[in-house]
Amino acid sequence: MSAEKILNEYGDQQGWNDESKLSLCQEYIDNQDSEAAFSDFVAQKATEENKEMIKCSFTSVWDDGSIVTTSCDYDPETGEVHPETSNGPIPTGCLEREFITIADEDELEVCGNCHEYVLKTVMGDRADLSYGEMKECPNPDCADAGNGET
Ligand SMILES: [Zn+2]
Repeated sequence: MSAEKILNEYGDQQGWNDESKLSLCQEYIDNQDSEAAFSDFVAQKATEENKEMIKCSFTSVWDDGSIVTTSCDYDPETGEVHPETSNGPIPTGCLEREFITIADEDELEVCGNCHEYVLKTVMGDRADLSYGEMKECPNPDCADAGNGET
């Protein structure tokens, strides 16, 4: 039985409100004598909450002309994208490009290799040895990282 179920069952019976349920939980946690573990847990939750995800849409363009758009979470800190899986039919062609659109304005290119990060614009030596602006994948595990190809 989950903690929520137990609390609701006895809470209904005893007429406890949320505050009484919360103080019961706190008393229980104190009795467990594992304050450090609880503190770690709460700290982790706070960090997760502070990780600001931007809601955007994720679009993939295929060479057979299909365009698939799903909603997506974007972490501007790391450049990581978490698109929702499309429920629609999977296009049969080759993937041409992927990008995310924030607030129907900016189109940000997604790495065509790992498909998990938005490409960063950096200055450096391009693949053709010229120097200038190029796109780089911030994913350290991405094989495409740093070669300047988009
Ligand atoms: Zn990548």
